[in-house]
Amino acid sequence: MRIIEKISEMQQQSNLWRQQGKTIALVPTMGYFHEGHLALMRHARKLGDILGVSLFVNPTQFGPGEDYERYPRDEERDIQLAKSVGVDFLFMPQVSEMYPEGYQTYVEVTEITKALCGLSRPGHFRGVTTVVAKLFNIIKPHIAVFGEKDFQQLVVIRRMVKDLNMDVTIVGHPTVREQDGLAMSSRNTYLDPEQRRQALALSKALREAQSLVSKGERDAKVITMRARDILEQDGKVRIDYVEVCDPQTFQRVATIERPTLLAVAAYVGKARLIDNMVLQPAQSELG
Ligand code: AMP
Repeated sequence: MRIIEKISEMQQQSNLWRQQGKTIALVPTMGYFHEGHLALMRHARKLGDILGVSLFVNPTQFGPGEDYERYPRDEERDIQLAKSVGVDFLFMPQVSEMYPEGYQTYVEVTEITKALCGLSRPGHFRGVTTVVAKLFNIIKPHIAVFGEKDFQQLVVIRRMVKDLNMDVTIVGHPTVREQDGLAMSSRNTYLDPEQRRQALALSKALREAQSLVSKGERDAKVITMRARDILEQDGKVRIDYVEVCDPQTFQRVATIERPTLLAVAAYVGKARLIDNMVLQPAQSELG
């Protein structure tokens, strides 16, 4: 596995692979790999001749007071894990390489970033779209794989690629969970054992919501209230948002008549966790 730190070296190498007719598949990450990341890599492995992973904790997507400085990092472990799933190259640039002095260009998706995490974390998606656009220009992947765990991010990236006519195919991958339901996340490492237990409320709320919908409940208010009840059960989870919304526009939905997104963000201790599920009304009622 090749480790590439310089943008110029990455671009030259990608140009060469492209000239040789190779298909490049990319998994962008912020590192501290878990099974979710590895699942995306294994999937991307099948989609391209060359499998690349970028590892960059992107400062522009963290707001003031967020966890940029203490975001978990372990490059040595990540290198070993990437090797173990057959990654061909790991692109890990320095912050000064990506954002040198004088840097002043940003990519912004304007509307669908006004809801959910975009509302709670102003500037977050601007940082995400900017860094992903840069990574696409540097690595020139044919395919890039993103997790549905960050559902809004996936939709925002698809929008950017469409609007800016980027020649990259975006592939989504289902959320990978721990056995007990907790969505895997690098931020789970912030949780102590008690908080780890409390964090189960997120996936539990989503499952309960789907169960209500499967039994015929269609009122988004009822679903939201039940999800909130579960999250607030032991008084230790602080809700950021619980929203039932359209999975493309993120506009609130009052009645669940088609696949509808239930998105949750909540603090457990210092960790801000997110999770989501696309609620499916019963097949028979879809006609
Ligand atoms: P991150 O390093 O957290 O920025 O994540 C890098 C990529 O992995 C993103 O596309 C995430 O959506 C995806 N990802 C993170 N956690 C999971 C998970 N539990 N299941 C599936 N994909 C995930």
